[in-house]
Amino acid sequence: MFKPNYLKLHKSGELDKIIVKLYEILESCELCPRRCRTNRLNDKKGFCRSGKELSISSYGPHFGEEPEITGGNGSGTIFLTNCNLLCIYCQNYEISHLGLGKEVSLDEAAEMMLNLQGRGCPYGCVDVCSSSILRG
Ligand code: SF4
Repeated sequence: MFKPNYLKLHKSGELDKIIVKLYEILESCELCPRRCRTNRLNDKKGFCRSGKELSISSYGPHFGEEPEITGGNGSGTIFLTNCNLLCIYCQNYEISHLGLGKEVSLDEAAEMMLNLQGRGCPYGCVDVCSSSILRG
């Protein structure tokens, strides 16, 4: 039976260490190659316009990928707001450039992930525009 890796990390105590390390990075953000050194814990925003809080545009099963990825239930997809790339031809322009979405708590985000997992979406969650976002 499939067991998510985070359960193993949680049990070993490794997950707590990773969370501490990631929050340290946010104090002078170098989470992506832009290396803005913005203090996101003070809710200052760097190039990606992401601050301290997590913002999500939508989530759900996604069927727009190859069948090997989506399976019968769709891939579990979370559209995170903002992006550190800001490609001019981005197909998710309103989300990545204009910041369409709403701030959610970590508990709410966890609920979304567990909801997708419970719906049988393969490969856990596929986050869109995730490189500038901390995932605890
Ligand atoms: S994640 Fe955002 S704030 Fe951090 S370095 Fe990249 S663009 Fe800058």
